[in-house]
Amino acid sequence: MIDLTAANPNLWKEVMGDKAGDIRKCYNCATCISGCPAAEGKPPLLIRSLVRKILLGLEDDLLNDETPWSCVSCNQCEEMCPQGVHPFEVGLAIRRWQCSKDQTFLPPSLPEVWDIGHTQSVHKQGELRKRLGLEEAPRSVAIMPEEMKKFRKMLKQTKIIQDNSFMFKDEEKKG
Ligand code: SF4
Ligand code: SF4
Repeated sequence: MIDLTAANPNLWKEVMGDKAGDIRKCYNCATCISGCPAAEGKPPLLIRSLVRKILLGLEDDLLNDETPWSCVSCNQCEEMCPQGVHPFEVGLAIRRWQCSKDQTFLPPSLPEVWDIGHTQSVHKQGELRKRLGLEEAPRSVAIMPEEMKKFRKMLKQTKIIQDNSFMFKDEEKKG
């Protein structure tokens, strides 16, 4: 049972602003999910569920939901939605809202970017990749130590990494 006693009835206005389509038009058809690569993730990105959370005003639940950060910006859902809801924009709006609500909010994908140079759980799909005849790990900075060092050097120029440097350690710092 969903507890609505602390629900925020204005959440949809706060999250969406006036930049995206009207999410109240969503009729939960799941078309946006059918072509979404991140809907296969762990946990899956399910835009229609996120829309429901927003419309029900489940603020705390939405604030702690990491799935919008697994969107790969492929834009398929934008073209598929029959209601003009702009699902891709919904995910981006949630990300912006999460960061604005909590100045200490760290995008959950950031440690992953720091560790392996990319997100989207590609590194967790080793078995599937092998079955498809691919190398177990994709060719990325994650398997190129020198490039990884350069990548981290670049990340260290960003404020968010500098402000949270205790979380982002590497060989250079240890030395
Ligand atoms: S843009 Fe994001 S939410 Fe939309 S289909 Fe692609 S990965 Fe999924
Ligand atoms: S495709 Fe559009 S209407 Fe259907 S569930 Fe997704 S956002 Fe809602």
